[in-house]
Amino acid sequence: MSNYHPLTEQEAITLAQTHVPLLQQATSLTCREIGDGNLNLVFHIQDTDTSNSVIVKQALPYAKVVGESWPLTLDRARIESEALRIQGELCPELVPAVYQYLPELAVTMMEDLSDHVIMRSGLIAGNQYPYFAAHISEFLARTLFFTSDLGINQQEKKIQQGSFINPELCKITEDLIFDDPYTDSPNNQYNPAIQDVVDELRSDEELHLQVAKLRHQFLTHSQALLHGDLHTGSVFVTKQSTKVIDPEFAFYGPMGFDIGAVIANLLLNYAGQLGWMEEDQKRQAFQQYLLHTIQEIWTQFESKFRQLWKEHGVDRISAQPSFQDAYLTALLQDTLGFAGCKMVRRIVGLAHVADIDTIKQPELKEQAERLAIRIGTTLIKEHDRFHHIEQLMDKVQQLH
Ligand code: ADP
Ligand code: MG
Ligand code: MG
Ligand code: MG
Repeated sequence: MSNYHPLTEQEAITLAQTHVPLLQQATSLTCREIGDGNLNLVFHIQDTDTSNSVIVKQALPYAKVVGESWPLTLDRARIESEALRIQGELCPELVPAVYQYLPELAVTMMEDLSDHVIMRSGLIAGNQYPYFAAHISEFLARTLFFTSDLGINQQEKKIQQGSFINPELCKITEDLIFDDPYTDSPNNQYNPAIQDVVDELRSDEELHLQVAKLRHQFLTHSQALLHGDLHTGSVFVTKQSTKVIDPEFAFYGPMGFDIGAVIANLLLNYAGQLGWMEEDQKRQAFQQYLLHTIQEIWTQFESKFRQLWKEHGVDRISAQPSFQDAYLTALLQDTLGFAGCKMVRRIVGLAHVADIDTIKQPELKEQAERLAIRIGTTLIKEHDRFHHIEQLMDKVQQLH
């Protein structure tokens, strides 16, 4: 990495022009850094004559979090670009095209998706995305099935696994999601008004047992190549289109972690709507839309996954229906357990979500936080008892 240095806007322009055919003839390129700035630089480069544009994403060698910083491997740029390439082969419509990866500079050049919006912002604004469940279930079913032992030859999988050893980014997850929220860690950040809830998280032994089991799953269950950070800030949407970005946390882990991330973030928005939609009827309708979307995601995922298994399963012994049923039940349970962990950490740990954190009225923000923790801890403690996604819909409504 001897040549590595953070790019200036001018350097980003020169690189883009050199490496992206779309911009080679351009005579007037503009550049803007648009990243949210914690781990990576994101440059938007546009030809002012043709409006052709590209994104240049560069990994920084450290993570900046609340004024502090810790070193973080640049290898994650390779992992991100390789994960995008694999996802692009499996679901070309659902990820940005990668134009070029430059290892020395930890740079990935990719398709500009600025005509989309980040889903988290769209949901906060109260927008609905009618194709999201169909698209994300397709993304999950195909990427998870075809990178697992069910969908590729087992030797090939073990070889591919070697390219996605991602210890530093996994450690972030292991600590921030599966540990800090349950202890008095200096990384935690939370609203002092919910200290009672925080104390409860730290003393609840039944909860700790289930978190330890889920953490162990995360550490040891190399089931499929995960996106690894599949929250609604990693999803770009329009009414018609869905694109998944930012797989720098990709590694071989438990499938339920990705599915759970999507569900957790929809549930966080569900809780956050207490602070966004004043009118009861309107809010309840939107919350129903979110629950319906979650139900559709699981239902469509399951049916697509079973179909892929039927058509492309690589071995005989796992083709038996009773094994497939058991596999999918265990996957639903993992999914809901991980979803619970993801919800809890967004309220009391490091890095919150705008869906709840930017609510203006303190009482409503606190109500949303309490609801999110109630749902999250219930999912963690009871994840092993779910057998159908409909049970989740009932549970969330009971906890309200
Ligand atoms: P980070 O890993 O730092 O979170 P992301 O890949 O999520 O980086 O990108 C940060 C932001 O940069 C996104 O929220 C989005 O606004 C913008 N961005 C990233 N990739 C693209 C893209 N392909 N097209 C348009 N904007 C993008
Ligand atoms: Mg970010
Ligand atoms: Mg991101
Ligand atoms: Mg990222």
